[in-house]
Amino acid sequence: MPHDHSQPHSLLPSDPELRARALETILVKKGLVDPEALSALIDMYQNRIGPQNGAQVVARAWVEPAYKARLLQDATGAIGELGYTGRQGEHMVAVENTPERHNLVVCTLCSCYPWPVLGIPPAWYKSDAYRSRAVREPRAVLKEFGVKLLEGQAVRVWDSTAEVRYLVLPMRPAGTGGWDETALAALVSRNAMIGTALCEAPA
Ligand code: FE
Repeated sequence: MPHDHSQPHSLLPSDPELRARALETILVKKGLVDPEALSALIDMYQNRIGPQNGAQVVARAWVEPAYKARLLQDATGAIGELGYTGRQGEHMVAVENTPERHNLVVCTLCSCYPWPVLGIPPAWYKSDAYRSRAVREPRAVLKEFGVKLLEGQAVRVWDSTAEVRYLVLPMRPAGTGGWDETALAALVSRNAMIGTALCEAPA
């Protein structure tokens, strides 16, 4: 499958923050961008778009079997039902963790990531070590993240591309029967939706 690496993250200079600030200063000074608009964009990615969106998708799938079925069949559509759409989320695939199979997501070539449901990728997701080791030795990587696999559980690694972004549907923790969606969503971490953590109910 072709893989688009024309994204800016693969061409970042050594001091991206400084360069971004220099660019912003010039653009604002020349009147080419409105600083308010920039702040609104930053707020969107920092606060409104993030793993809390994905957590709501997971919680809905846990409580509503029909929604879960739609999510597994057409993740882009099912996630869109909750209003989470946009760049880097156009072609979503949800992969379900089961006692038989644990799913792990990586982008081996850059850092493709489902922004509308998970926000901005963490630094480790973009690291060379994660990108190569997740494929070569996924069980060792999972162990380092503290994920305890079940006896006989297979590990399936999904390589994201510019065409397809994956969302892991974690297993619902035992002892959460009757919990509402809000309470369940609070148990769903970003890492659980990448596959580098499990969801656990408080003891
Ligand atoms: Fe990528």
